[in-house]
Amino acid sequence: MLVFKFGGASVKDSKGVKNLLNILNEFSDNLIVVVSAFGKTTNKLEEILNLSIENTEKCKEKFEILKAYHFDIVKDLFSDESDPIYTELKNEFLKLKNEIFEKKHDSFDLKYDQIVSFGEIFSTMIVSAFLNSQKLVNKWIDIRKVMITDDTFREAKIDMSLTKTKAEEAFNFKNDKVYLTQGFIGGSKSGYSTTLGREGSDYTAAVLANLLEAEKVMVWKDVDGILNADPQYFDATEKLDRISYQEAVELAYFGAKVIHPKALKPLHNKNIPLFVRSFINPEGAGTEIGCFKQYDQDLPIFILKKDQILISLFPKDLSFAIEDELNKVFGYLSEQRIKVNLIQNSAISISLCIDNINRKWKHLIERLKVDYKVLYNDELELLTIRHYSDQAIKKVTKDRKIFIEQRSRHTAHFVIK
Ligand code: ASP
Ligand code: MG
Repeated sequence: MLVFKFGGASVKDSKGVKNLLNILNEFSDNLIVVVSAFGKTTNKLEEILNLSIENTEKCKEKFEILKAYHFDIVKDLFSDESDPIYTELKNEFLKLKNEIFEKKHDSFDLKYDQIVSFGEIFSTMIVSAFLNSQKLVNKWIDIRKVMITDDTFREAKIDMSLTKTKAEEAFNFKNDKVYLTQGFIGGSKSGYSTTLGREGSDYTAAVLANLLEAEKVMVWKDVDGILNADPQYFDATEKLDRISYQEAVELAYFGAKVIHPKALKPLHNKNIPLFVRSFINPEGAGTEIGCFKQYDQDLPIFILKKDQILISLFPKDLSFAIEDELNKVFGYLSEQRIKVNLIQNSAISISLCIDNINRKWKHLIERLKVDYKVLYNDELELLTIRHYSDQAIKKVTKDRKIFIEQRSRHTAHFVIK
């Protein structure tokens, strides 16, 4: 059995949905197909939610635009306007409208999940109906009844043992060969919709593969596979043919948009290989992430993380007992849920490189100032080079101001401006 995942970019219009059909037609295996919301729908739903608080008129307008976008796709796919998908979709949009304008929820995060989860419901209803109309027989599964989570809304944690039981029931392959379901969303035990964190569909695919012991996972993207650098920032990029899970974790951790970082562990635990392939060029072999011992390509990998803050702390009395102080500093960081990308310490200082998210770091600095003298630089970049050579380093750091440089056997990091 294989698990496929199609992200929003692969199904942003009716052409994308037809392309998905062509890809699936090439496979005769048992399949679970996980699909994201169409295009940028999740962002649009976030926008609608925010507007529902500030500006009802604008919110209604955006709601209608999102509805029209989905119905335009349906019209391209189903010429017969009496097809049941028209009524089904209309009903789902009514439910969404009700969630936005009528229901009151105590917490923003709870409301967020009730609204944002509709993106995947819409897309999968449409794709499933279209595939069935084209004789690719499939069963639509409401993953909110399978992927059982706690109620940490917007970042729900999956109850693996309960989900395993439900998943074995739902995806039993007794009468069906192909299942179509949603990524990113789940359902709490109390009956609410939940979400697993933005870009979470990879994680859904990985968890299902793990629980159901799939042979492989295939993630279909708009690139030929995993590249050795982001073509947005680097030129002459090349595809990596195969990398190990460990390598993929390193890349994801330091900011490569390879695959959702949470997706790797469930696959690694069961040794399930993951293929990143192109939905534009489906014949291509893509990149395989699997149990490979060593990185065997002669290509350095470049990862750039933008918008970094470098914070340096000095004790006010010059006496730094590093061990104790590190505990304290990491205590503050975990309190504010800030992830440290790089750390460097000397006898009398600690430097931390962190993401600039939501101005959280400003609070952190205020907090740290109570105990330390604090200096910081913002608008920096963290450049990571895996499997570096002197030449590779020179190429990307020349003419840049280097704030911190760290090298280990396989990895070099630079905090630069
Ligand atoms: N649709 C969700 C998002 O855009 C999940 C995903 O695409 O993986 O975050
Ligand atoms: Mg997406």
